[in-house]
Amino acid sequence: MVTIAERLDAAYARIATAAKKCNRDEKDITLIAVSKKKPLEDILAAFDHGHREFAESYVQEGVEKVQALNDHKTIVWHFIGPIQSNKTKAIAEHFHWVQSVDREKIARRLNEQRPTNMKPLNILIQVNIDNDDNKSGCAIAQLPQLAELVNNSRQLHLRGLMAIPAKTDSFDAQLQSFEKLKACFDKLQTQYPQLDTLSMGMSADVDAAIAAGSTMVRVGTAIFGERS
Ligand SMILES: *Cc1c(COP(=O)(O)O)cnc(C)c1O
Repeated sequence: MVTIAERLDAAYARIATAAKKCNRDEKDITLIAVSKKKPLEDILAAFDHGHREFAESYVQEGVEKVQALNDHKTIVWHFIGPIQSNKTKAIAEHFHWVQSVDREKIARRLNEQRPTNMKPLNILIQVNIDNDDNKSGCAIAQLPQLAELVNNSRQLHLRGLMAIPAKTDSFDAQLQSFEKLKACFDKLQTQYPQLDTLSMGMSADVDAAIAAGSTMVRVGTAIFGERS
């Protein structure tokens, strides 16, 4: 049986190989372990192997895990799922990063509900890069306005962009989507030089994402196995 520790090592190795192929430094790419629908024991197995960055997609499940592991102070928690406006308070109070901000109402509520005794919430704006009707994410045309709002929010810290491209097995098609997001990122960065995070790449498309300039990959299945 392959352990979570071994699969984590394989994920790190895959990032290193992909980075080397395009003359990038693997240290510039952060691996986020996506633990949604997986039990606490799995998170702890990764933690015991030295991993600290985890992501959850469902509010209730995510909050329960953050609370259960409250004494593991070094864990960095990312929220990456679709956000309903009645769930923003729980997200603002429990996570370090929110990668799925895609509209002004959500940004306003997260800013108002982030407790003032906590550090500002790190924000990635999710972009609907392939104009997919089934996917969340803001349209590219709305990006400047939403970025300005987040940037002007005291309890939010604009860090960059995130996207989930349309599913395809073709490396070239994956690359093309990711390069679109990279172009949006570069453009936005001329206005906000502090932007440092481009979150793209999952188990099936990490290599193309890194080739296109990803600085953060979100890997679930390849670390924790298939989800039921
Ligand atoms: C589930 C999920 C992932 C991880 O997907 P895998 O294919 O299991 O690696 C990454 N990003 C988001 C936004 C997700 O919802």
